Amino acid sequence: MFIILGSFLNRFVPLYITYVIIISLIRAGDILFDSYVTVIGAGLAGVEASYQLAKRGFSVKLYEMKKLHKNPAQQSDAFAELVCSNSLRSDALENAVGLLKTELRMLDSLVIRIADANRIPAGTSLTVDRICFSAQLTDIIRHHPLIEVIDAEMDTIPDGEVIIATGPLTSEPLFAAIKKLTGEDTLYFFDAAAPIILADSIDMTIVYQKSRYDKGEASYLNCPMTIDEYNNWYDELINAQCVIPKDYELKVFEGCMPFEEMAKRGKETLLYGPMKPVGLEMPNGNRPYAVVQLRRDDISGSLYNIVGFQTHLTFPEQQRIIKMIPGLANAKIVRYGVMHKNTFINAPKIINACYQMKAEPRIFIAGQLSGVEGYVESVGSGMVAALNMVKRLQNEPKLIFPRETALGAHAYYLANAVPSFFQPMNINHGLFPELIGKHHKRDRKILYAKRSIETIKNMTEAHLFD
Ligand SMILES: Cc1cc2nc3c(=O)[nH]c(=O)nc-3n(C[C@H](O)[C@H](O)[C@H](O)COP(=O)(O)OP(=O)(O)OC[C@H]3O[C@@H](n4cnc5c(N)ncnc54)[C@H](O)[C@@H]3O)c2cc1C
Repeated sequence: MFIILGSFLNRFVPLYITYVIIISLIRAGDILFDSYVTVIGAGLAGVEASYQLAKRGFSVKLYEMKKLHKNPAQQSDAFAELVCSNSLRSDALENAVGLLKTELRMLDSLVIRIADANRIPAGTSLTVDRICFSAQLTDIIRHHPLIEVIDAEMDTIPDGEVIIATGPLTSEPLFAAIKKLTGEDTLYFFDAAAPIILADSIDMTIVYQKSRYDKGEASYLNCPMTIDEYNNWYDELINAQCVIPKDYELKVFEGCMPFEEMAKRGKETLLYGPMKPVGLEMPNGNRPYAVVQLRRDDISGSLYNIVGFQTHLTFPEQQRIIKMIPGLANAKIVRYGVMHKNTFINAPKIINACYQMKAEPRIFIAGQLSGVEGYVESVGSGMVAALNMVKRLQNEPKLIFPRETALGAHAYYLANAVPSFFQPMNINHGLFPELIGKHHKRDRKILYAKRSIETIKNMTEAHLFD
């Protein structure tokens, strides 16, 4: 109706006046019929979901509490804050998370578009200037005519159509309300953020620039260790003082394990994990025994985070252990690593493959709270939830993404995992259905990508995302 009205008005008045009239009519309609979608949480999932709804002409009331009360991982008032790494991980099509980004680009994801616009060099990964990234997204969302931002904590589940995207640190009253509604016990694990240091406190006479196997730009800094340096450092690390987790905080998620915890599993464990030296030979051609990698954290290159060094060491111990690393003797830490509880629902019991509650179809749960793991995965779930909310509001059938796509494979996992063993999951090729026919191992990943891209193209041509 609004499209027809728009083209009619356009004959007589300039485009921007047509736009203002149509927005006012939609708003007036909303007031009359009180029709809007409540989105709770302006994180990665909530921002994407709000934008996709608004883009399709639906009004959104977006609740975000951080201006009034920040959780321990948050530092700014901006939306879609990247609380730990500034990397949205691989951008290569052969990588499952790279494919997920490609799908999101095909669906006009706002978050990935702004990430692309704020990209900083980091080899083949999509790494962003986190301040500019969040600032731009905040600006777009706060000024969108169909999105009303309410800076407040939502402590109950409101009536009407709702997308809950309150993330891994969902505030307690809301989580209690979700628990009451679902009848489920709280699920949680522990997540951790790596320290960030000032670039000009790094000793560049010791540290060298190189990406592993020289893939992409040489945008990592590497702190090389000899065997003696490593052994000495290791002994100090495993005896360093940690913040003592509470009983309920003892579950550790393997994908985001503190590095000191990893070290305690064996002297060589770090050498096969974040301190792996292969492909990181020094300028003289020698391979160090161990390497600590630093990844650029902002466009200007003034900040670096220590790759894989999520930690729950006490702050003084972080100082001591980091300063023992060659090249970091004078390191100035601008943000210490921290650990936090991470909450999520038992997805296979509670939601379907559209991120919609089975028992309460008016409610969708997106983002990390739904059981996806990772920044890009959270964006993806926000996208799928919003597109399905649109279908619901238009009385159209659900939009189930085929499992051949990364969006569909992940949603299928959540809806169909074994509830008693359920754990959050990053997107990975293990979630995709096998390819038909025999293929050489080296070709398989790109064939997964081609199959998915073809599927999304067909869905677009069938106007399923309109
Ligand atoms: C310490 C830590 C480190 C992490 N590191 C990484 C990493 O390096 N890489 C990675 O891929 N993933 C990481 N994660 C996971 C990361 O949080 C998610 O991948 C992603 O941020 C989740 O997006 P989201 O939209 O679900 O939630 P968030 O981005 O957390 O957004 C949720 C928003 O909801 C708001 N909110 C909460 N409760 C309420 C309420 N009751 N009312 C109103 N607003 C509310 C919050 O203030 C927040 O802004 C980390 C998580 C934590 C906690």
